[in-house]
Amino acid sequence: MSPTAGFTGRHAVVTGGAGFVGSHLCTALVAAGATVTCVDDLSTGTVENVAHLAGRSGFTFLNADVTEPFEVDRPVDLVLHFASPASPADYLRLPLHTLETGSLGTRNALALARRDGSRFVLASTSEVYGDPQQHPQNERYWGNVNPVGPRSVYDEAKRFAEALTVAEANAHGTDAGIVRLFNTYGPRMRGYDGRAVPTFIRQALAGEPLTVTGDGQQTRSLAYVDDTVRGILAMAASDLRGPVNLGNQAEITMLELARTIITLTGSSSEIRFVDRPTDDPAVRCPDLTLARGKLQWEPRVDAGEGLARTIAWFRARHDA
Ligand code: NAD
Repeated sequence: MSPTAGFTGRHAVVTGGAGFVGSHLCTALVAAGATVTCVDDLSTGTVENVAHLAGRSGFTFLNADVTEPFEVDRPVDLVLHFASPASPADYLRLPLHTLETGSLGTRNALALARRDGSRFVLASTSEVYGDPQQHPQNERYWGNVNPVGPRSVYDEAKRFAEALTVAEANAHGTDAGIVRLFNTYGPRMRGYDGRAVPTFIRQALAGEPLTVTGDGQQTRSLAYVDDTVRGILAMAASDLRGPVNLGNQAEITMLELARTIITLTGSSSEIRFVDRPTDDPAVRCPDLTLARGKLQWEPRVDAGEGLARTIAWFRARHDA
């Protein structure tokens, strides 16, 4: 069965739907025949990301901050809670907003799901594992997070959001599940959002040095957004509570990533080593056993193909 089968005629609310991942989710849901309400305060997202859906029957954009109670007048079948600053540059700029979105925002999104007895999926993150002492990370690992470090506003907001989601499911029987997304990349990322893939692509296309932090030996496992969205929809269609890791197990050092992007863009840029941020995780790689077994989900797009598609998107914008 197609992962999008079963969404036809259903009403999905996507908080953070004007962001990078959320906008791809809205697109996939509309394509699957769902009615979609995208709720976003545009704090890090943009209406451009959903401009292709504007005017499509079944798509509504609601400009609202989910830290305040918000109204969706029609009955809702599915709440996908993706609102949250996600890049370090954003959450360091918006620390209190990030904590409030993870706490008050999650409470309000859960209240909407409870109102209509709908399925709820929380977008959590591999950052709940912090700087991990177990590698790769499976869902039973509790993590190694500095609760007062600069990244804690994001990591702890998501850990609290997970705890709230589990408590809500236990207390009220809400059909709630949690996905832990590992680094996801693709079209519609912002060139200045501080994450490695868009930063390196922007720099390579501009002929500027690619700024690799530390010695570049720290690793990330990069998932292409289409794979991540397919996994999220599989989770939404299930009654699994999770948490379930979604990502790609192909681990790459940041130095290798920079070199790959220079090659794929044909850029003459050099690499410049800069300071590594505090508490930056040394390694990151998901154990995907649970997602494979319970969701029959597997990433399909390798880094070469995913980066080529992402570069093509950035290049089109760069040229324009
Ligand atoms: P993004 O910044 O592109 O999107 C987040 C969206 O949420 C933006 O459109 C923003 O305007 C909106 N938002 C933020 N606070 C809000 C609020 N209080 N009310 C309403 N809207 C609000 O980030 P993204 O990469 O698309 O991440 C989306 C979700 O996925 C986040 O919850 C993030 O934690 C999670 N996630 C993403 C990744 C990744 O690699 N992209 C990895 C792990 C988890």
